[in-house]
This record gives sequence, C-alpha cells and structure tokens, in this order.
Amino acid sequence: MTEKGLLLVLSGPSGVGKGTVKSAIVKNKVFPFEYSVSMTTRKPRPGEVNGKDYYFVSQERFKQAINQNELLEYNQYVNNFYGTPMAPVEKMLEAGKDVLLEIDVNGAKKVRKQMPDGVFIFLTPPDLHTLHTRLENRGTESEDVIMGRIKQARQEILVMQDYDYAVVNDTVANAVDHIKAIVEAEHVSVKRV
Ligand code: 5GP
Repeated sequence: MTEKGLLLVLSGPSGVGKGTVKSAIVKNKVFPFEYSVSMTTRKPRPGEVNGKDYYFVSQERFKQAINQNELLEYNQYVNNFYGTPMAPVEKMLEAGKDVLLEIDVNGAKKVRKQMPDGVFIFLTPPDLHTLHTRLENRGTESEDVIMGRIKQARQEILVMQDYDYAVVNDTVANAVDHIKAIVEAEHVSVKRV
C-alpha cells in the first residue's frame, strides 16, 4: 500500500505574504508536492492564470460547488468566496503525494477539524506595521480595505496557538527554508510511524 502524502496547510493573516511564499515554493520546486488550486469568485489580477493560480468561477458555480459538497472548506473573505476542491486533494494524498494548501485562517481551522493529521504552518509578519506597508505597496487595495485587513490580521495572530509551526516571513528565502525544514522533519517524525 502506498503511504499517504502529507497535507501541508500554509496559512496566516492576509498581506503576510502567503501568496509570495507559496509562489516561491511552487516556482523553485523546493520539495516534492502538488499544489491545491482553490476556487474563487474573485476576479483575476493581472498575470493570474485560470486553473493555475485559482479556478475563477461565477457566484452560481461556487454555490453549486457548496451544495454538491465539492469543497473541503470554503470561506467568504472581504466580498469573495474562496474554497478548496476536495476530490483532487484526496486523490493526491491517496497517491502518496504531499499536497500544499495556501488558505486563510478560517479555512485552515475547518481543515484542521476534518484532517487533524495535516501539518499546519502559520506565517507571521515580523510586525503589524510591516503588514500595513506591504498591503499599501501592493497598491491593489483601498485604505478602507487595508484597515479592514489589519483589524482581521490582529485577530488572526491570536489563533496562532492552534498551529503546529509558526514561521516568520522576514524574507521570502528564510520563510521558504524554514518550511522546507518542517516538511523534511515531518517526513521522519516518529509521531507518524
Ligand atoms: P487573494 O485574493 O489575495 O488571492 O486571497 C485572499 C485570501 O484568501 C488569502 O488569505 C488566501 O490565503 C485566501 N484563500 C485562497 N484560497 C483559499 C481557499 O481555498 N480557502 C480559503 N479559506 N481561503 C483561501
């Protein structure tokens, strides 16, 4: 029997750089894994590719996915829905592949309940001021949205104790190195034997 893969859940406050860290892991193939492409009702940002970054779908399609139990978890974030399609995740884990999810903290909490064996990694900003600056520099959000995201981030940091690991995103390279070390350690963890 093939040994099941590890479910790797990368989460943390919005603006902490989850997307950038995930992209660096994907691009540099830092360790062997499959990335779980989420479904969202958000419109694509410039350069984002349907089926690679997200499955960009209509509200109707998303509701259908909820009703038909296609999603491992989903969450409304600001004005859009985001969710993890279940079937591909299960299939890849069964095939012995590690699967990486990059999702918000509400989604991670739901996944934790269903898949407690997952490896839950919380990415933290060095401080909230950095988070504010990063959101501003991204330039895609209005000041109102930035303040909303920061308020949410303060609460999200409180949930850190529910995770297995906390990784400070001081530089992307450091964060990626730490995540790689975590995955390698989990593969030889006696907890899993
Ligand atoms: P963005 O719009 O910046 O791509 O993502 C906004 C937030 O949604 C981020 O915190 C991101 O991690 C989260 N997100 C992306 N995909 C999913 C998903 O499938 N489920 C949940 N719960 N959150 C997601």
